[in-house]
Amino acid sequence: MTAGLLAGKVVLVVGGSTGIGADSARLFAAEGASVMVAARSKDTLADLTDELTAVGHVAHTPGDVSVAADVARFVDATLERFGRLDGAFNNAGINQQGRLDEVSEEDFDRVMAINVKGMWLCLREEIRAMRDSGGSIVNTSSVGGFRGNTGLGAYQATKHAVIGLTRTAAHDNGPLGIRVNAIAPGPVETPMLTQWRAADPAAVERRISAVPLRKAGTTTEVAEAAAWLLSDRASQVSGVVLPVDGGYSA
Ligand code: NAD
Repeated sequence: MTAGLLAGKVVLVVGGSTGIGADSARLFAAEGASVMVAARSKDTLADLTDELTAVGHVAHTPGDVSVAADVARFVDATLERFGRLDGAFNNAGINQQGRLDEVSEEDFDRVMAINVKGMWLCLREEIRAMRDSGGSIVNTSSVGGFRGNTGLGAYQATKHAVIGLTRTAAHDNGPLGIRVNAIAPGPVETPMLTQWRAADPAAVERRISAVPLRKAGTTTEVAEAAAWLLSDRASQVSGVVLPVDGGYSA
């Protein structure tokens, strides 16, 4: 029997109650990791933890990724429960439709706070925990982080920022043995895509039909890429932004 890709690792998944994050928690646990899942929704997190306890060591901690004290607690809870932190998947994010000139200041601040400040807070706290032992961090950007696109202005800007944070963190922390990478999914069938499809079905179908593989990705396909980057099999990979998009950005 072969050991799992993440056997013996302790991995924190931030933004893990639904969609890509929840399926990643499932896959990481199945690949042998002890997993701490963090997100806003207490009930969904509790259901996921119950489901996964049979597979492996899984716990949860609710909180808001844009609040510094909550993010510190995500990491502290992981250290208390499992004793160390080897990997982190920073996947929390919200979508926001609308042209840049039509987005309200309040909505702009909100998407920046969750997608950008939240990402920075996660990196800061995770690096604190990995400083002496090294580790691997994977951040969720998007194909929207590579280029502009109409109707998603502020969201696209946040996903460009995630790439900037990833590359800078890879440079800063490589000497500590901490690898930092990002994944850039194309359209993936999750609650986020369902919500966007309800608001603008034509925009979603246009993007899916532009995927060379002619399909949206599944949450498991994205989780597989994150698992590999978190694993020791990617030991010389840092500062990379890996598209998981069926060729969309090629
Ligand atoms: P989703 O809405 O199912 O998941 C988002 C997750 O982020 C949830 O667990 C939610 O609880 C968490 N979250 C949101 N705001 C939070 C906050 N303030 N504090 C803590 N947690 C918070 O959607 P998804 O599609 O699985 O999205 C996951 C990531 O993938 C996001 O960063 C998203 O931008 C990115 N992404 C999604 C797609 C897609 O087509 N679905 C494409 C590219 C990138």
